Amino acid sequence: MIVVKVGGSKGINYDLVLQDLAKYHDVVLVHGGSDELNTISAKLGKPPETITSASGYVSRRTDRETLDIFNMVYCGKMNKMIVEKLQRLNVNAIGLSGIDGRLLMGKRKDVIAVENGRRRIIRDDYTGKVEAVNTDLLRLLLQHGYLPVITPPALSFDNEAINVDGDRAAALIASRLHAEILIILSNTPGLLRDEHDESSLVPIVTRESFDQAMSFAKDRMKKKVLGAFEALNAGVTRVVFADARKPMPITNALQGQGTVIQ
Ligand code: ADP
Repeated sequence: MIVVKVGGSKGINYDLVLQDLAKYHDVVLVHGGSDELNTISAKLGKPPETITSASGYVSRRTDRETLDIFNMVYCGKMNKMIVEKLQRLNVNAIGLSGIDGRLLMGKRKDVIAVENGRRRIIRDDYTGKVEAVNTDLLRLLLQHGYLPVITPPALSFDNEAINVDGDRAAALIASRLHAEILIILSNTPGLLRDEHDESSLVPIVTRESFDQAMSFAKDRMKKKVLGAFEALNAGVTRVVFADARKPMPITNALQGQGTVIQ
């Protein structure tokens, strides 16, 4: 079993990712859509806003209006674009968001933002963290030859759609499905020592070098490193960060190219 997460950042080549993905069986794909969401929400007159938590993580401010646009872009444009491309490659993909069939569930949380050193609770934010995966549904689909293409949002325990981090959702899916490997594809060769220098790739990260890896990771990369370690702690043998701009990103990741975390 392979779980692949393909991000939504600028430069990702979905054709290259999906052409390679089509060669494999027993695959679950999780995707993002951040760059497209930023573009569309700006066009709709609601430019993206971010929130920085006390522990330094940056996340998207998701009020109800943003959540509506989020659904349009992630569940609509991005999910169906990926499913259509896979169908064209003769793969019977099925697109699902986390709210469909209670696929991904978690707790909606009050967000605490830090602005100019002051803490502020934001109550109308639809954000949370995935805690449960409907593995029965995924197994049912996989057993019948479908390739699940999964996107946030997830469903809160009070049945509200919530924006969740795709990398950490993929990490939980990988562990609950007992996947051997989780491949996280983005617009970078992997974890870089210096985010601005693509030649500074860190080839291997181990448990002992977690703190060091976290110090290299800036902004959104922090959640990828965190998700990778959550997957390892939950039984996934290997996580690989690899480049979604290059041909054969999955095959290359399986061969150890990128950053291997184990
Ligand atoms: P995606 O939407 O593809 O999942 P993100 O935008 O969330 O990707 O995260 C990838 C981005 O993280 C890269 O484009 C890069 O700008 C940033 N980043 C920050 N620190 C690092 C680092 N140390 N190594 C690689 N990328 C980093």
